[in-house]
Amino acid sequence: MIVMGIESSCDETGVGIVRWVGDGTLELLADEVASSVDEHARFGGVVPEIASRAHLEAIVPTMRRALAAAGIAKPDAVCVTIGPGLAGALLVGVAAAKAYAAAWDVPFYAINHLGGHVAVDTIEHGPMPPCVALLVSGGHTHLLHVEDLGRTPIVELGTTVDDAAGEAFDKVARLLGLGFPGGPALDRAAQDGDRTAVVFPRGMTGPRDARHDFSFSGLKTAVARFVEARERAGEPVPLADVAAGFQESVADVLTMKAVRAAQDVGVDTLVLGGGATANSRLRELAEERCAAAGITLRVPRPRLCTDNGVMIAALGAHLIAGGAQPSALTVGTDPGLPVEIAQVPA
Ligand code: ATP
Ligand code: MG
Ligand code: FE
Repeated sequence: MIVMGIESSCDETGVGIVRWVGDGTLELLADEVASSVDEHARFGGVVPEIASRAHLEAIVPTMRRALAAAGIAKPDAVCVTIGPGLAGALLVGVAAAKAYAAAWDVPFYAINHLGGHVAVDTIEHGPMPPCVALLVSGGHTHLLHVEDLGRTPIVELGTTVDDAAGEAFDKVARLLGLGFPGGPALDRAAQDGDRTAVVFPRGMTGPRDARHDFSFSGLKTAVARFVEARERAGEPVPLADVAAGFQESVADVLTMKAVRAAQDVGVDTLVLGGGATANSRLRELAEERCAAAGITLRVPRPRLCTDNGVMIAALGAHLIAGGAQPSALTVGTDPGLPVEIAQVPA
């Protein structure tokens, strides 16, 4: 079975093609992505209207490249991100997916973007055991419990109550004058800093926080206050130390809570996903803490962590193998789709 996945929830137009080999094993046949990230840079964030227009221009060429790379005329099933994401952006991918599925006369599956970020790890590391997944990107921060991928609903253990982790990186980078997207620039700036020189608060790590939720807006404010105080006093801002201290706070909270969540639900595997997993300190701390706790850490390569079509194909293939019925061609986008709903039937 050859499954195509189409992704257009934010600023990446992705078309991925995979082959279901069997027993949770997938073979990657094509991974084509066009990003409009550079077009958003001068606005300091993703502009929905620009993203939608870019998807419109990119979708057919990206589709053609993917089919050529896989060496096929058509797949056996078409899957598409139906949500969560930007409404106008989602609409482009969904309209394209319906049109191709109808023209090729193959089944159509409306898939959850967040589940895709989890499922894509099977491309890199094979069948997925029961695990906890930590998703960190520009728009999302979630701790998820995955029992039987494609067969049982993914359960949310916690999420951010305010900013997403990647969003916090972007906002703090902007505050420090590092540009957009700020995550990679802040990561680089932190390399020259001392992560213990400036200690920033760790949000929602008190004993009363039973759910595995996160908060990053207080941290962002703490960084802003620190910078303002230095500027008012006419003292230079120790940029590298601030970047390193901020990054340490985010990585500390994310990894501590992820390990705690895995222990609470009784699994010995942690999967990371989302574009902010590129963060060097997050990876380092996750490795350290998982090793100390006897937890196996699975982190897909960076290209698979950011938004792409392969992740949608990967979740779709697992759902189809698990017996999911196709979605109706009348199904609409759902910008706020909860993670528990892996596929929208109608
Ligand atoms: P979505 O939230 O829908 O998954 P997105 O486009 O916001 O989509 P991604 O493309 O997965 O998210 O990831 C981009 C985010 O990851 C940005 O917020 C970026 O700053 C952050 N990021 C990328 N590299 C790093 C890094 N090395 N350190 C910290 N954050 C990073
Ligand atoms: Mg992106
Ligand atoms: Fe994403």
